[in-house]
Amino acid sequence: MIDPADEEDEALASLKRDYLRDAPERLAELRKDLAAFRAGEHDALDSLRQRFHRLAGSGGSYGFPRVTEVARAMEERILTGPRPTIADADLVEQAIHDIRDAFDDEANTLDMPMVLGRLPGFAYRALIVMRPTSLRDSIANALLKTGFELDVNEGNVDPWDIPPSKRPDLVVIGTDVGDDALMLARYWAAATPERPRAVVLADTDEKLDRLRTAAAGLDAVFGPAALPGELALFARGLARVGAPPPNVVVVEDDPAQAQLMATWLGQINARVSLCGSAQSATDTLSRELPDLVLLDVDLPDVDGYAIARLMRQDPRLALVPIVFLTARHTLADEMEGLRAGGDDFLAKPVERSHLLQVVLTRTERGRRIRELVHRDGLTGVLNHATLMAELEHAISFAARHSEPLCFLMLDLDHFKRINDTHGHLIGDQVLMHVSTVFRKAIRSSDLIGRYGGEEFGIILRRCPPENGMVIAEKLRSTLAATPVKVRGGAELSPRVSIGVAAFLSDKEISVADFTAEADRALYEAKASGRDRVVMA
Ligand code: GH3
Ligand code: MG
Ligand code: MG
Ligand code: MG
Repeated sequence: MIDPADEEDEALASLKRDYLRDAPERLAELRKDLAAFRAGEHDALDSLRQRFHRLAGSGGSYGFPRVTEVARAMEERILTGPRPTIADADLVEQAIHDIRDAFDDEANTLDMPMVLGRLPGFAYRALIVMRPTSLRDSIANALLKTGFELDVNEGNVDPWDIPPSKRPDLVVIGTDVGDDALMLARYWAAATPERPRAVVLADTDEKLDRLRTAAAGLDAVFGPAALPGELALFARGLARVGAPPPNVVVVEDDPAQAQLMATWLGQINARVSLCGSAQSATDTLSRELPDLVLLDVDLPDVDGYAIARLMRQDPRLALVPIVFLTARHTLADEMEGLRAGGDDFLAKPVERSHLLQVVLTRTERGRRIRELVHRDGLTGVLNHATLMAELEHAISFAARHSEPLCFLMLDLDHFKRINDTHGHLIGDQVLMHVSTVFRKAIRSSDLIGRYGGEEFGIILRRCPPENGMVIAEKLRSTLAATPVKVRGGAELSPRVSIGVAAFLSDKEISVADFTAEADRALYEAKASGRDRVVMA
């Protein structure tokens, strides 16, 4: 028996959800009017008053008391207070923020995957980094239609140089900007507080290795066939819920069941690829790197366990969450699924909210794991393994294109002393400081990683030896000139010694030999008194 009171609660919750889905649009309208008011358009104030009036009313009927309270106060202020002037724009802005927070809180209590987050202007902002082609124009048009404000350039804008008010929520990087596309993407996608909501790659010629795109921390990759249509869908989802939509592969041979899954997953803005057979699943997985695979067991060709096993053997797919969804659910089946590499095992028929919760939780954690796998937990720069993989790639690239390349090995001076005098926690704080100083001092196409404990490695692409020396010297002197205030108030001024190895395109070299060269130079720098730069 269903308790009628429960049923009523559920009906109200469902109404609230519908209303919340439109909340971003309501907020965007308020923002637009506010901007118009600031710009001196005289009818903007009346429009604002009407919007607040409607919000106060609907907030009441849908059960959002805080929205009603804030909106009503604003309405009254506009109607009965002294005629608001431009100086009062901040008041309106504050009210919009309060309403947004109220919506956010409600969304949280209702377990809705919805974070309204910051509303940067009155619209989301996108940056397209691509060569001027008709494809770029059509992507730009699609994003404009979705309501994004747009900036376009061809690649030479450093994220650090963009003022906070102009920072994009979505960055689209085209592989047609050249071989720097992935470097650029990685730089934008770095785990800093300024990271855009989503960084995506428009893979115009579809020649990128998907493991490398995953390592770059990208949120999505769109091949030529998906441009601009799927990118526009992605952008719309982003504008609505604020987080990059999860990319889910559904392997299910029953078309009705597959359609149902697609519909449900659409409710959390997931991008869904449907596969009706194991063959079609392996094809899709060779092209795409999903955030999650929803896997049926009984399929017309090979069973789902085999797909899971194949995925776990492939380093590119080994960490992708797998959720089995099957009518076969004896204990033996479930054990088989776990052994094959499944993360969850759901029985058909599944409850919609259960499925969606599993998908949301697993995709979010999967993304975090990807970050953890490629980045150093303390400093956020690349970890040793990823740095070495990048160096190997950079060397073969430089050799192929006859380009110079430098590798810097940096080791902090007398770091033990810092630990011994101030303790390990302060030592860690110094390491974070140092990595930030280095990160800001290099270009967006350069790569920095933590080579070891207090050692960093920096890859400088297209960099001739003399420039390598200049950059190393700049890093050394910048660090020396940037002391750090540590917990407890002391001011420390760590120093660094740097070994520089240069690669000139005519001689082949292994990663091991190349790093050994840099290491020898570093040893010399240490031997000759520290706080120095030496070239191999
Ligand atoms: P120098 O390089 O100038 O010869 O002297 P050093 O004192 O830096 O010598 P060495 O490179 O041998 O020592 C590095 C020290 O860094 C040893 C280790 O305790 C410390 N260390 C390594 N990793 C970490 C870390 O993650 N956090 C902290 N706080 N200390 C670390
Ligand atoms: Mg089946
Ligand atoms: Mg060391
Ligand atoms: Mg040291």
